[in-house]
Amino acid sequence: MTVTDEAPAGTIHRRALINGEWVEGSQGSFEVKSPFSGDVLGTVTACGPDDVDRAVAAARAAQPGWASVPLLDRVDLMYRAYALCKERNEEIAQTITREMGKTIRESREEMVQYACEHFRRAAEDVLRYRGQVLPSTEERTNNKRLLVTRRPAGVVGVITPWNFPVDIAAISICYAVAIGDTVVWKPSEYAPLSSAMLADIFVDAGFPPGVVNMVTGAGEVGAAIVEHDDVDVIAFTGNTATGERIARSAGLKRLLLELGGNGPIIVMPDADLDKAVEASILGCFYLAGQCCTAAERILVHDAVHDEFVRRLEDRTRRLRVGDPADDATDMGPLCNAGTLRKVRDHIKDARDGGATVTEIGVADNLLYPPTILTEVTEDMVIARDETFGPVAPIIRFSDPSEAIRIANGTPFGLNAALFTNSLSDAWRMAERLEHGTVLVNESTNYWDQLGPFGGAKKSGVGRELSTWMLDALTEIKHIVFDIGTDDHSHGGGAA
Ligand code: NAD
Repeated sequence: MTVTDEAPAGTIHRRALINGEWVEGSQGSFEVKSPFSGDVLGTVTACGPDDVDRAVAAARAAQPGWASVPLLDRVDLMYRAYALCKERNEEIAQTITREMGKTIRESREEMVQYACEHFRRAAEDVLRYRGQVLPSTEERTNNKRLLVTRRPAGVVGVITPWNFPVDIAAISICYAVAIGDTVVWKPSEYAPLSSAMLADIFVDAGFPPGVVNMVTGAGEVGAAIVEHDDVDVIAFTGNTATGERIARSAGLKRLLLELGGNGPIIVMPDADLDKAVEASILGCFYLAGQCCTAAERILVHDAVHDEFVRRLEDRTRRLRVGDPADDATDMGPLCNAGTLRKVRDHIKDARDGGATVTEIGVADNLLYPPTILTEVTEDMVIARDETFGPVAPIIRFSDPSEAIRIANGTPFGLNAALFTNSLSDAWRMAERLEHGTVLVNESTNYWDQLGPFGGAKKSGVGRELSTWMLDALTEIKHIVFDIGTDDHSHGGGAA
């Protein structure tokens, strides 16, 4: 099993993983606290630029050898890691809940449905990742053969957020190593303990030293990866502001950026209201609203507005808010003080602007009550920016064009949802929404692991999951053969 030290207080201490060794970083260590109880759960070593240098050098040195390991051997390792992850799902889920506060049911979903399965999906997808043979059109001969294939891009810098700390990291890392890249990973400083447990899996499954490296610390460690000359790709998931900063400093590196959202749910007059209410509960209050695909705005047609609000309030009153480790809890605390500050600021701005604010429960430290806002207008911050909290801001509209204009009227474009029973409205409105995914009669908080995931506008650059992920982590290689004139009598040749 991987090295972990018991710190004096009985809490855990975790190190960075560089070239197959668990090592202390050069910047001391930092504490990890439970957002629910405030208890110190452990300490984690803090890395600096010199540690990033060593991790990148290890990844660079390991990459050519790793890419030449037979594909079936790489796939076998992925399956070994998959088995280990399945064994450890519960232990990792408990750690996620303790350190970042999502409910244990949400953490189990993260592990069982998403994170663990990335090992298997990456192994399967890489076996079916195909190239192309192109027709030759440059000259009137039958001499050329044009092959389009892919090669691993090299060293991938993976930088991940706290809201799905193991799932999101596992997507990039599993697909990168399956295709033959090596990785330098900077997990979130708010979820480093569960992240280290994912790193354990790669070590314990037998991945060679240097293939997966993990450097821990805050944003400056991520920045050192982004600015490093010997990193080829940055796969970043996080805030739009951080993503923009990364895009400015990454130079000519390839970028996969999965950023913030401000997802609308549009409720048309003919919608199944109960279904739209359930989708809004999931959209606004799943993970206390701290989801990139959260329903950050609910646009409701005048004709059904009052009834929709009544049913949403009734349903919200049945949510159980509290200890995330309790199986019965529906909604846990916010992850950190910065998130709480933003939620409070957005609600204050809406209240000052004339919105009616209904808090269902009382705030207690990082536990924030589910909050419904009506009479929200487009100029309010809560309607324009990503709030990332348990809020349901409701905006009225009177015709479909107005709904589309409002839905498209922010810089974000991740997921949008639409509730209607009209096939024609669904089709036409889905076409006009400027979002990476449009969900018809389903919540914004819905994604399929085999579909392209990512945002338009300021919600991101590129798409992840399945073969789109492999596209992002590889370079196109075009190989042209001139095989000379055919001086044999048997003919043949390419089409
Ligand atoms: P964040 O941007 O604050 O941090 C993300 C990661 O980037 C962390 O590891 C952090 O330490 C690191 N970082 C911070 N500054 C950096 C810099 N200058 N250079 C390099 N790395 C840096 O985001 P967060 O608060 O951890 O996560 C919440 C955000 O992530 C929300 O905006 C949410 O919408 C977004 N998110 C998007 C997706 C998606 O798939 N589109 C998924 C999950 C979360």
